[in-house]
Amino acid sequence: MIQDNLKYVEDKIKEACKRAGRNPREVTLIAVSKTKPVSMIKEAMDYGITDFGENKVQELCDKTEKIKEPLKWHMIGHLQRNKVKYIVDKAALIHSVDSWRLAEKISQEAEKKNIVCPILIEVNIAEEESKYGVRKEELLPLLEEISQLKGVQVKGLMTIAPFVENPQENRKYFRELHNLYIDIKSKNIDNVNMSELSMGMTGDYEAAIEEGATYVRVGTGIFGERNYTI
Ligand SMILES: *Cc1c(COP(=O)(O)O)cnc(C)c1O
Repeated sequence: MIQDNLKYVEDKIKEACKRAGRNPREVTLIAVSKTKPVSMIKEAMDYGITDFGENKVQELCDKTEKIKEPLKWHMIGHLQRNKVKYIVDKAALIHSVDSWRLAEKISQEAEKKNIVCPILIEVNIAEEESKYGVRKEELLPLLEEISQLKGVQVKGLMTIAPFVENPQENRKYFRELHNLYIDIKSKNIDNVNMSELSMGMTGDYEAAIEEGATYVRVGTGIFGERNYTI
């Protein structure tokens, strides 16, 4: 079942790339495995998936403990400063950096371990009250500050678009984030690299790819509905 879903999602990714005149190699599928058991992750691994997304520090640590194969674990959830130390050397990319204080903490913990931690800045592009992420106006000053930190390397931007029935409604937000990304890229800020754009989930990843996503984060479309009560 999972492998059929993966095949379906990969086909949709290829079709979206084709429509947009993009090379499918530019788009990486992150299988969002939060709340799902190791057995399901193994099924996706057997299919060839190497990038997995988790939103809780504890769960990410448990899973890296149980699965020894070299996978890329993406931290996509809100991150508290006191938990950074547990994942700074386990996450291939932290997608959810939305403050100077969090970036500074990640940098400190990375320096302790002699590594440089790749991060994305989360932008609340639709300005939803309920969402984390920086406002558009805060992005450039924040990047200029973060560029001074030795233990982090900014790789790009991430957003979580609104929950909508019709994915076309989110296209304007994806386009807006892409424009911000291009804009910042052209400023050539030291230590700030704009090469990744993490946007699009089960409901809207095709539109996100058409608007320039390099990472799409798909959970339900691969592993089925999540049950938060167990
Ligand atoms: C859960 C989650 C996803 C995946 O959502 P689906 O709708 O199940 O594909 C993507 N991104 C983030 C940040 C998430 O927390």
